[in-house]
This record gives sequence, C-alpha cells and structure tokens, in this order.
Amino acid sequence: MDREKNFIPDDFYDFIVIGGGPAGAVFATLVAKEGYKVIVLEGSKFPRFCVGEIIAPTAIWRIWHRLGVTKEMMDPLFIQKWGAGWITPNGTQFNFDQDVHPEDSRCHAHVYQLDRSVYDEFLLNHARDNGVTALEEARVEELFYDENGRMNGVSFERHGKTFEVRSKLVVDASGRTNFIPRKLGIRMEIEELHSFACFAHWEDCKKDQGKNAGDVRLLFTENDLWYWWAPLKDPKSSIGIVANKNVHWDEYSKDPEAFYEKWVLNHPFIKKRIENATRITNFDVVKTRINQASKDSALLTNFHARSSEAVGDGWVLIGDTLGFVDPVFSAGLHVVHGSGMILADAVIKGMKENNLSEGFIEKEYHEKYKEEFQDVLFHIQGWAQLYYNPKFVDMFLKWGNRYPKIRDMYIRTFIAFEKKAIKEFSKFFLKIFKNVSHKSGFKLSVKK
Ligand SMILES: Cc1cc2nc3c(=O)[nH]c(=O)nc-3n(C[C@H](O)[C@H](O)[C@H](O)COP(=O)(O)OP(=O)(O)OC[C@H]3O[C@@H](n4cnc5c(N)ncnc54)[C@H](O)[C@@H]3O)c2cc1C
Repeated sequence: MDREKNFIPDDFYDFIVIGGGPAGAVFATLVAKEGYKVIVLEGSKFPRFCVGEIIAPTAIWRIWHRLGVTKEMMDPLFIQKWGAGWITPNGTQFNFDQDVHPEDSRCHAHVYQLDRSVYDEFLLNHARDNGVTALEEARVEELFYDENGRMNGVSFERHGKTFEVRSKLVVDASGRTNFIPRKLGIRMEIEELHSFACFAHWEDCKKDQGKNAGDVRLLFTENDLWYWWAPLKDPKSSIGIVANKNVHWDEYSKDPEAFYEKWVLNHPFIKKRIENATRITNFDVVKTRINQASKDSALLTNFHARSSEAVGDGWVLIGDTLGFVDPVFSAGLHVVHGSGMILADAVIKGMKENNLSEGFIEKEYHEKYKEEFQDVLFHIQGWAQLYYNPKFVDMFLKWGNRYPKIRDMYIRTFIAFEKKAIKEFSKFFLKIFKNVSHKSGFKLSVKK
C-alpha cells in the first residue's frame, strides 16, 4: 500500500535514495533510525515482481537484527530454508544444512526463500515504520548539481507532476537499471560472462516434506544451462533457467515461453516437481524487455555488470547498481543488504563529523565494502564460467562429499562467505584448476 498517495515532498532531505528495493530500504531504515531525514523514490508500484529469491548465508540475520526484522515477522510471510544442494547430470549430489553459525546468537539455523514482491513491500513498509518517507510511482529523471559541481538533488515524475528535491547525498539503489552509472557513462559489463535467465512462478509443485520443504536445488546439465528450484511459501515455487547466451539466445529470443517450457520439461527433477503444477506467471514482461534489448536495457540479460566508480561528489551507489556478477551462489541479496548497511554506518559517522566528502565515503564505505565482498564476488565470477562445465562441477562436488575438510571449506565459502575459507578455497581452486584445465580443454578467464 502506498501510504503517501497525495504527499508533497519537502524541498530538502539529508538523503535521497533512488529505488525502493532491498538496498534502498536497508540504507534508509538504518539512517532514519538515527533520526536523519530520508526520502526513497521508487519508480514502480509495489508489490512488483522481482527475481532473486534464494538467500545463501545465515549471516543476513545480523542485518535483519539491526533493522529490527524478526523471525516472528518473517515466519508468516516466507518459507523457511534449512538446506540446499547441487545435482550434476551424473547424479552426484552435494547437499548441506544451512546451520553454519551456531555460535553466533544473532543468526538462526535457517534463512528464508523470499517471494520478492512480498519481501520488498514488507521491507519498504518497515522503512516507513521507522520514519522513512517512501514514495512509490516516483520515477527519478534528472540529476542536479550545485555551482561547485557537487550532485545535490534529483527531479522525479509522479502521477503526471514533476517534483524537485535536494539533499546532502544522493544514494543510487536503482538496481540493474543502473540509473546514475548510465547517466554518467560508468557502467561496465563483465566481458567473460554471457548468461541470460528466464524464470516463472508455479503453484502446487511437488515439494519435499516437513523441515526440508524449503530446500533449494541447483541442477546442472550438459546443455549449457542450469536450473534453480526454489520452493516459496505454499502454494508457490520458483523455477529458473540460466543459460549460455552464446548457445541459446537465438532460440530464446524468438519465443521465450516456448524455450522455457521446452527446457523445464527436459530435466527429470523439475519434470517430476511440476507434474500437477500450474505456471502462474507469464512472459509478457520478458518479451517487452527483449524488445528493448537493442536499447541496451534488457534486465534479464547483460546483467553481469559493475560500475567503474562507486562514489562521486554528492553521490554513491549501493546494491546491484554498484555491481551484480551472476546468480550462481545466490549472493546478490546478502551483498545488497550488506552494502546498504555499510553505507548507513559510513554516513551516520560522516553526519556526526560533518563530513560527507567523496574521499570520506570512499574510505568509510567503498573500501569496507570491498574488504567484505570483493573476494566472494571474484569467486562467483570464476564459478559462473564453470557452471556450464558439468564434469568439472561433478569433480568438485565428489571431492566435497569424500573429504570432510573440503566439504567444510565449500560450505564456509559459499554458504557463510567466510573470508578465511574464501582465501583458502581460492588457493585450492587455482591450483586444481591449473592441473585440470588443459585436460578438459576448458579455458577460464577471470579478471580481478
Ligand atoms: C536471474 C537472476 C537471478 C537471481 N537470483 C538471486 C538469488 O537467488 N538470490 C539472491 O540473493 N540474488 C539473486 N539475484 C540478484 C538479486 O535479484 C539482486 O541482487 C537484488 O534484487 C538487487 O537489489 P537492489 O535493491 O539493489 O535492486 P532492486 O531489487 O532491483 O531494486 C531497485 C529498485 O529501483 C527502482 N528504480 C529503478 N530505476 C528507478 C528510477 N529511475 N527511479 C525510481 N526508482 C527506480 C526499481 O523499480 C526497483 O524497485 C538474481 C539476479 C538475477 C538477474
């Protein structure tokens, strides 16, 4: 519900946030809790469909804790996720439980699968409850600068009227729309990655029973594509396909729906799950976006992108606007929430010290963001290429099943995103890869 229907904005806010997805909502809530005046401008009307439903690490609880989001609030809305697993075409399975932070009282042993239309609206309303002004159907159009060239505001269109607002800092959380990066020409695509995705929601799929009903499966194939199976709160489930653009784009772009239908029925695991199920989302939105692809704005492809700069004079990027690598390890939401929280801490400090300069935000936000996430993002970039090589994945999973130490390293890397484990894994990964790549003929090109 848009609680601000006929709202006329003030002229000035401490912070303007472009985009009311999780990145924008997390940042806005945390600064509003400290008493700062913040406006979120969200272009669409919530609830709105959004991809990105699986949460990997239980460490996200630490952020929910800070926000005041509790288990009691989440349980009625979302299915609990206690585990996940990978399955290769040979039938190799690597399954794991979600409980990687038993010693940390701020984390639970489970997370949730998020139906994003529900979650994003819930989080934006939570921001409002904490003092944030959040306007839906408020599409930001122009950026303003003061006489010294510092960005100091935006204009936005709402219900046919144009408004102008000014602020101390403009925070871009516009997701893969990349509002400021596109305006400033600083959006870059990650050349090595060439995936696109198609996905749908279903009702009445066959789910596992009891505690494991929310378990996720990632399924590999020999066909240059992989699948996600993500049960949502009953009766829904989410089934997605991520495919190699170089191989599948021609077929997909001619008829996305036919492509999706063909490939979901092609995998025995998925086929069994959807036997008595009904697909409840269509491909209209996808078709529109494909038609826009020539304008470089398709959101379901070209999504491996990052901005060459994170901070400028009067502006800063968080969430997917700063970068999104690939869905392979369901890291998106964790990084997105983290970036909102790190920026909130930086600007709260900056407001107290009367310093929101570019240098200060770079040091207090961007440097800390890189320290926290750079290694895991680098890892994901490598794995996003390996996901189309099922023999390689099969070998990795078999090692994980055979050797408890390796298993623990995988889980701590990909489920907990623990820095020590990631470093250890990087060494292992590169060493093994050198030995294997020439045998398999597979070339990996990762740029840091
Ligand atoms: C195929 C695919 C699968 C994925 N799967 C997962 C997964 O399983 N797990 C996971 O954690 N992550 C996943 N992700 C990533 C996840 O979707 C994103 O990381 C997350 O949604 C980004 O959150 P955000 O708040 O940065 O942006 P968004 O959630 O995209 O929110 C941005 C908001 O900005 C608004 N906006 C845009 N432009 C303007 C404007 N000019 N004015 C006003 N508002 C504007 C939009 O309407 C939108 O609501 C996946 C991504 C893809 C592409």
